[in-house]
Amino acid sequence: MTRPEKLDLDDLASRVIAGERAALGRAITLVESRRPDHERAAQELLLKLLPHSGKAYRVGITGVPGVGKSTTIDTLGRNLTARGHKVAVLAVDPSSQRTGGSILGDKTRMAGLAMDPNAFIRPSPAAGTLGGVARRTRESMVVCEAAGFDVVLVETVGIGQSETAVADMVDFFLVLLLPGAGDDLQGIKKGVIELADMLAVNKADGDNAARARRAISDYRAALQILVPPGAAWTPPVLAISGLNNIGLDEMWAEVERHRALSEKSGALGARRNEQQIKWLWSMLEEGMIQRLKSDPRVKARLPVLEADLRQGRTTATLAATEILKLLGI
Ligand code: GDP
Repeated sequence: MTRPEKLDLDDLASRVIAGERAALGRAITLVESRRPDHERAAQELLLKLLPHSGKAYRVGITGVPGVGKSTTIDTLGRNLTARGHKVAVLAVDPSSQRTGGSILGDKTRMAGLAMDPNAFIRPSPAAGTLGGVARRTRESMVVCEAAGFDVVLVETVGIGQSETAVADMVDFFLVLLLPGAGDDLQGIKKGVIELADMLAVNKADGDNAARARRAISDYRAALQILVPPGAAWTPPVLAISGLNNIGLDEMWAEVERHRALSEKSGALGARRNEQQIKWLWSMLEEGMIQRLKSDPRVKARLPVLEADLRQGRTTATLAATEILKLLGI
């Protein structure tokens, strides 16, 4: 893309809003670009698209590799387009490599949905800081919504901090689990269950059905301890089979019930507002760290202070105070 003129951006925005697929792809490429002039143009474009966004229901989906995320999204997505929805699938995977490895949101992993004219699948933005990857996915979500997608599914792996980043950008967070080994809760982090709006035990088919039932009662018991009494929403625990399309309609009915409840109570708007503020702060933190690390005075002084710290000639607090003073903070 050459220098994006204001006129180009107006044109691109109206094409996105008209639902032109090529424009949608171009807009997301712009949002994902790290070139400073593209970054500025992307922000300008987003400002034009923002009034047309926000209407989709945003659902995050996590689970360990192999739990069946892509299989489930493929089937669920097609169920939804069959009912007239337009479904966008995005992903957050800071470790994702374009060569090899599982690239979340990859079209080859969702072969059926990828062929669906009412679906749009975008792999995770290329590896980078979690903040950078999450920001690009979040901004891509705005573009998809402006293009008329009314369901946005955001996939992430069940490892690391990326789950929190996704939970912070969606209206509903779904955790997929494997049947069996329910007694030790599969070593799954308690923190993830606390983020969950619903747990679904996948692969509840064939020989796994009985094990899935046991896992469900274990998770229900765990939730009873975790969910405060009187909470407006108790995360349902369901058995599904993404492969065989079992339980997915019931699962989506719960998503819709949650939406209706949280719209009525105002919780949806409150959650989104809170997310905006958190987003602002995480961008401020990332921006501050970047400025700090690239400041020539800090670059010159930091190695000296680090050496002093190792030798016991200063304290971490004194060193930090000096660095912040250099920046005028
Ligand atoms: P992901 O890494 O979480 O995206 O998992 P995949 O969707 O790639 O699935 C991993 C493997 O589990 C594949 O071989 C799938 O065919 C299989 N699988 C996924 N969902 C189901 C299911 O509901 N039942 C069964 N039996 N197998 C499944």
